[in-house]
Amino acid sequence: MNSMDADRTIVVATGNAHKLDEIRAILGAAPSLAGMRFVALGDLGDFDDPEENGQTFLDNAVIKACAALDETGLRMAVADDSGLVVDALDGAPGIFSARWAGEHGNDQANNDKLLQQMADVPDGERTARFHSSVALVTRDEDGEEVLAGSGDCEGTIAHDLRGTNGFGYDPLFELADMPGLRMAELSPEQKNAISHRRRALDDLVRKLG
Ligand code: IMP
Repeated sequence: MNSMDADRTIVVATGNAHKLDEIRAILGAAPSLAGMRFVALGDLGDFDDPEENGQTFLDNAVIKACAALDETGLRMAVADDSGLVVDALDGAPGIFSARWAGEHGNDQANNDKLLQQMADVPDGERTARFHSSVALVTRDEDGEEVLAGSGDCEGTIAHDLRGTNGFGYDPLFELADMPGLRMAELSPEQKNAISHRRRALDDLVRKLG
Protein backbone atom coordinates (compact mmCIF):
# COMPACT_ATOMS: atom_id res chain seq x y z
CA MET A 1 0.00 0.00 0.00
CA ASN A 2 1.82 3.20 -1.10
CA SER A 3 1.52 6.51 0.71
CA MET A 4 -0.78 8.05 -1.94
CA ASP A 5 -3.23 5.24 -1.30
CA ALA A 6 -2.90 5.62 2.47
CA ASP A 7 -4.01 9.24 2.22
CA ARG A 8 -7.16 8.31 0.35
CA THR A 9 -8.10 5.00 1.96
CA ILE A 10 -10.25 4.26 4.97
CA VAL A 11 -10.11 0.70 6.21
CA VAL A 12 -13.44 -0.58 7.54
CA ALA A 13 -12.89 -3.02 10.39
CA THR A 14 -15.79 -5.36 9.79
CA GLY A 15 -16.19 -8.77 8.28
CA ASN A 16 -19.82 -8.01 7.46
CA ALA A 17 -20.39 -7.06 3.80
CA HIS A 18 -23.70 -5.40 4.62
CA LYS A 19 -22.05 -3.10 7.20
CA LEU A 20 -19.33 -2.20 4.69
CA ASP A 21 -21.97 -1.11 2.16
CA GLU A 22 -23.87 0.87 4.79
CA ILE A 23 -20.72 2.61 6.07
CA ARG A 24 -19.51 3.36 2.55
CA ALA A 25 -22.88 4.82 1.52
CA ILE A 26 -23.35 7.01 4.60
CA LEU A 27 -19.80 8.16 5.38
CA GLY A 28 -18.92 8.39 1.68
CA ALA A 29 -21.55 11.14 1.37
CA ALA A 30 -19.83 13.31 4.00
CA PRO A 31 -18.25 16.30 2.19
CA SER A 32 -15.08 16.07 4.30
CA LEU A 33 -14.55 12.46 3.18
CA ALA A 34 -15.17 13.15 -0.53
CA GLY A 35 -12.86 11.08 -2.72
CA MET A 36 -11.96 8.60 0.03
CA ARG A 37 -11.98 4.89 -0.76
CA PHE A 38 -13.52 2.52 1.81
CA VAL A 39 -11.87 -0.90 1.88
CA ALA A 40 -12.86 -3.87 4.02
CA LEU A 41 -10.11 -5.09 6.35
CA GLY A 42 -10.68 -8.63 5.11
CA ASP A 43 -9.84 -7.55 1.57
CA LEU A 44 -6.40 -6.40 2.70
CA GLY A 45 -5.34 -9.61 4.42
CA ASP A 46 -6.26 -12.38 6.80
CA PHE A 47 -6.06 -10.80 10.25
CA ASP A 48 -7.07 -12.13 13.66
CA ASP A 49 -9.84 -10.24 15.45
CA PRO A 50 -8.50 -8.17 18.36
CA GLU A 51 -9.66 -8.93 21.89
CA GLU A 52 -12.66 -6.66 22.56
CA ASN A 53 -11.83 -5.98 26.18
CA GLY A 54 -13.07 -2.40 26.47
CA GLN A 55 -15.54 -1.19 29.09
CA THR A 56 -17.88 0.53 26.64
CA PHE A 57 -19.17 0.14 23.09
CA LEU A 58 -16.97 3.06 22.04
CA ASP A 59 -13.86 1.50 23.65
CA ASN A 60 -14.42 -1.63 21.61
CA ALA A 61 -15.04 0.27 18.38
CA VAL A 62 -11.74 2.14 18.93
CA ILE A 63 -9.93 -1.15 19.71
CA LYS A 64 -11.15 -2.61 16.41
CA ALA A 65 -10.26 0.51 14.40
CA CYS A 66 -6.77 0.78 15.95
CA ALA A 67 -6.10 -2.93 15.34
CA ALA A 68 -6.98 -2.37 11.67
CA LEU A 69 -4.47 0.51 11.52
CA ASP A 70 -1.78 -1.63 13.20
CA GLU A 71 -2.42 -4.50 10.79
CA THR A 72 -2.53 -2.49 7.56
CA GLY A 73 -0.24 0.46 8.24
CA LEU A 74 -3.02 2.72 6.95
CA ARG A 75 -3.89 6.06 8.58
CA MET A 76 -7.67 6.04 8.78
CA ALA A 77 -9.99 3.31 10.03
CA VAL A 78 -13.62 3.08 10.96
CA ALA A 79 -15.24 0.45 13.17
CA ASP A 80 -18.49 0.02 15.03
CA ASP A 81 -19.60 -1.88 18.08
CA SER A 82 -23.21 -2.48 18.93
CA GLY A 83 -25.52 -4.41 21.18
CA LEU A 84 -28.73 -4.60 23.15
CA VAL A 85 -29.19 -2.66 26.42
CA VAL A 86 -32.07 -3.86 28.62
CA ASP A 87 -33.14 -1.58 31.47
CA ALA A 88 -34.56 -4.33 33.70
CA LEU A 89 -31.23 -6.19 33.43
CA ASP A 90 -29.15 -3.16 34.44
CA GLY A 91 -27.96 -2.68 30.87
CA ALA A 92 -27.16 -6.33 30.08
CA PRO A 93 -26.30 -7.88 27.70
CA GLY A 94 -24.66 -4.59 26.56
CA ILE A 95 -21.11 -5.02 25.28
CA PHE A 96 -21.46 -8.78 25.81
CA SER A 97 -24.46 -9.05 23.43
CA ALA A 98 -22.78 -11.32 20.87
CA ARG A 99 -21.49 -13.84 23.42
CA TRP A 100 -24.01 -13.44 26.24
CA ALA A 101 -25.03 -17.11 26.33
CA GLY A 102 -21.45 -18.36 25.94
CA GLU A 103 -20.73 -19.10 22.31
CA HIS A 104 -19.98 -16.03 20.14
CA GLY A 105 -22.84 -15.21 17.78
CA ASN A 106 -25.25 -17.95 18.89
CA ASP A 107 -28.46 -15.95 18.34
CA GLN A 108 -30.82 -18.69 19.43
CA ALA A 109 -29.03 -19.28 22.74
CA ASN A 110 -28.86 -15.52 23.36
CA ASN A 111 -32.59 -15.09 22.70
CA ASP A 112 -33.45 -18.07 24.93
CA LYS A 113 -31.40 -16.51 27.71
CA LEU A 114 -33.09 -13.13 27.25
CA LEU A 115 -36.58 -14.67 27.39
CA GLN A 116 -35.65 -16.58 30.52
CA GLN A 117 -34.10 -13.57 32.31
CA MET A 118 -37.11 -11.41 31.42
CA ALA A 119 -39.73 -14.03 32.32
CA ASP A 120 -40.89 -12.25 35.49
CA VAL A 121 -40.48 -8.66 34.28
CA PRO A 122 -43.88 -6.94 33.84
CA ASP A 123 -44.82 -5.28 30.54
CA GLY A 124 -44.28 -1.70 31.73
CA GLU A 125 -40.67 -2.48 32.69
CA ARG A 126 -39.46 -4.23 29.53
CA THR A 127 -37.85 -1.17 27.90
CA ALA A 128 -34.61 -1.63 25.96
CA ARG A 129 -32.56 -0.14 23.15
CA PHE A 130 -30.12 -1.20 20.52
CA HIS A 131 -27.00 0.95 20.75
CA SER A 132 -24.23 1.51 18.24
CA SER A 133 -20.98 3.39 18.64
CA VAL A 134 -18.91 4.17 15.56
CA ALA A 135 -15.28 5.34 15.74
CA LEU A 136 -13.31 6.98 12.96
CA VAL A 137 -9.64 6.88 13.99
CA THR A 138 -7.01 8.96 12.20
CA ARG A 139 -3.35 8.27 12.95
CA ASP A 140 -0.33 10.41 12.11
CA GLU A 141 3.16 11.08 13.47
CA ASP A 142 1.69 12.98 16.43
CA GLY A 143 -0.71 10.24 17.52
CA GLU A 144 -4.33 9.36 17.03
CA GLU A 145 -7.53 11.32 16.79
CA VAL A 146 -10.86 9.64 17.47
CA LEU A 147 -14.13 10.97 16.13
CA ALA A 148 -17.10 9.13 17.62
CA GLY A 149 -20.75 8.78 16.65
CA SER A 150 -23.48 7.07 18.61
CA GLY A 151 -27.04 6.05 17.95
CA ASP A 152 -29.92 4.26 19.69
CA CYS A 153 -33.07 2.57 18.60
CA GLU A 154 -35.69 2.33 21.37
CA GLY A 155 -38.10 -0.53 22.01
CA THR A 156 -39.30 -3.21 24.40
CA ILE A 157 -38.52 -6.89 24.87
CA ALA A 158 -41.43 -9.10 23.77
CA HIS A 159 -42.51 -12.42 25.30
CA ASP A 160 -41.94 -14.52 22.19
CA LEU A 161 -39.98 -14.53 18.93
CA ARG A 162 -41.49 -13.15 15.75
CA GLY A 163 -40.16 -12.31 12.28
CA THR A 164 -37.44 -13.84 10.15
CA ASN A 165 -35.44 -10.85 8.93
CA GLY A 166 -32.39 -9.30 10.53
CA PHE A 167 -30.25 -11.14 13.07
CA GLY A 168 -29.39 -11.30 16.76
CA TYR A 169 -32.12 -10.10 19.10
CA ASP A 170 -34.32 -8.68 16.30
CA PRO A 171 -37.19 -11.23 16.74
CA LEU A 172 -37.62 -10.19 20.41
CA PHE A 173 -37.31 -6.44 19.89
CA GLU A 174 -40.57 -4.51 19.54
CA LEU A 175 -40.03 -1.05 18.12
CA ALA A 176 -41.15 1.96 20.18
CA ASP A 177 -41.85 3.94 16.99
CA MET A 178 -43.82 1.12 15.35
CA PRO A 179 -45.90 -0.49 18.11
CA GLY A 180 -46.66 -4.16 17.47
CA LEU A 181 -43.80 -4.59 15.01
CA ARG A 182 -40.62 -6.50 15.73
CA MET A 183 -37.28 -5.46 14.28
CA ALA A 184 -37.17 -8.88 12.56
CA GLU A 185 -40.41 -8.02 10.70
CA LEU A 186 -38.87 -5.00 8.94
CA SER A 187 -37.39 -5.29 5.47
CA PRO A 188 -33.63 -4.65 5.33
CA GLU A 189 -34.36 -1.21 3.80
CA GLN A 190 -36.81 -0.31 6.60
CA LYS A 191 -34.35 -1.44 9.25
CA ASN A 192 -31.43 0.43 7.67
CA ALA A 193 -33.45 3.64 7.70
CA ILE A 194 -34.05 3.61 11.46
CA SER A 195 -31.34 1.39 12.94
CA HIS A 196 -28.98 2.33 15.75
CA ARG A 197 -26.08 1.87 13.32
CA ARG A 198 -27.69 4.27 10.84
CA ARG A 199 -28.16 6.82 13.60
CA ALA A 200 -24.58 6.43 14.82
CA LEU A 201 -23.22 6.90 11.30
CA ASP A 202 -25.48 9.94 10.77
CA ASP A 203 -24.16 11.36 14.06
CA LEU A 204 -20.58 10.83 12.88
CA VAL A 205 -21.33 12.55 9.56
CA ARG A 206 -22.77 15.54 11.45
CA LYS A 207 -19.59 15.76 13.54
CA LEU A 208 -17.39 15.48 10.46
CA GLY A 209 -19.14 18.55 9.10
P1 IMP B 1 -21.90 -6.19 16.42
O1 IMP B 1 -21.11 -5.24 17.24
O2 IMP B 1 -22.62 -5.52 15.31
O3 IMP B 1 -21.11 -7.37 15.99
O4 IMP B 1 -23.06 -6.75 17.33
C1 IMP B 1 -22.82 -7.46 18.53
C2 IMP B 1 -24.06 -8.22 18.94
O5 IMP B 1 -25.08 -7.29 19.32
C3 IMP B 1 -24.68 -9.06 17.83
O6 IMP B 1 -24.10 -10.34 17.78
C4 IMP B 1 -26.13 -9.11 18.27
O7 IMP B 1 -26.32 -10.08 19.27
C5 IMP B 1 -26.35 -7.73 18.89
N1 IMP B 1 -26.84 -6.77 17.88
C6 IMP B 1 -26.17 -5.70 17.37
N2 IMP B 1 -26.92 -5.07 16.44
C7 IMP B 1 -28.05 -5.76 16.36
C8 IMP B 1 -29.21 -5.60 15.54
O8 IMP B 1 -29.34 -4.71 14.68
N3 IMP B 1 -30.19 -6.52 15.74
C9 IMP B 1 -30.10 -7.53 16.63
N4 IMP B 1 -29.04 -7.73 17.39
C10 IMP B 1 -28.00 -6.85 17.26
